[in-house]
Amino acid sequence: MRETLVLNASFEPLATVTLRRAVVLVMQDKAVVEQAHPGLRIRAAAVELPVPRVIRLCRYVRVPFRRRASWSRRGVLVRDRHRCVYCGRRATTVDHVVPRSHGGGDTWLNTVAACAEDNHRKADRTPEQAGMRLLSKPFEPTPADSMLLALGASGREGLPEWLAARAGSDRVSA
Ligand SMILES: [Zn+2]
Repeated sequence: MRETLVLNASFEPLATVTLRRAVVLVMQDKAVVEQAHPGLRIRAAAVELPVPRVIRLCRYVRVPFRRRASWSRRGVLVRDRHRCVYCGRRATTVDHVVPRSHGGGDTWLNTVAACAEDNHRKADRTPEQAGMRLLSKPFEPTPADSMLLALGASGREGLPEWLAARAGSDRVSA
C-alpha cells in the first residue's frame, strides 16, 4: 500500500506512515492534509476525506537526528530512475552488485536498477566476474531524496511547488 508522507508543522519531511495512520492523525486533528491523491476519497467513521498523500502535523515535533531512507526495491528503481545501470535501458529489476550468495546485502550501496536481460546475464557473479561495468555508482539517498522515494516520485513533477523546492534542497531535516 502507498504510504503517506508526514511533514512537521514547519513543513520539513519527518517520516512516512500507512494511509490508515495518516487518516487517524487527520481525524484526531493532529494533522492536516497538505496534498491528496486527485479524485480519490476515503471513508472513515462517518466522514469522507480526500486520500492524503502528504499530511502536516499541527504541532511542531523536535527531531534530534537525520532520518535515513530505508532500503526498498522500489526505492532503488526510483533512485536510479528506472534505468539499467549496465546498459541504460529501462530497468524493471534490482540487481545485487555483490550477489547475496557472496554476502552482498540489501543496501543502497549494493543494489542497482537493472534490465531483466542484464540481471539474468550477470547472474550469481560480481560485475568483475561477469565482465560488466556499472555506468554509475549506487549511492545512499539524501533525506531530500527519501521524500521523493516515499512519494514514489521519480522527479519533482507532480509535487506542489513549495514541496518540490524542499525536495531540491539538502537542508530538509530539523
Ligand atoms: Zn541492461
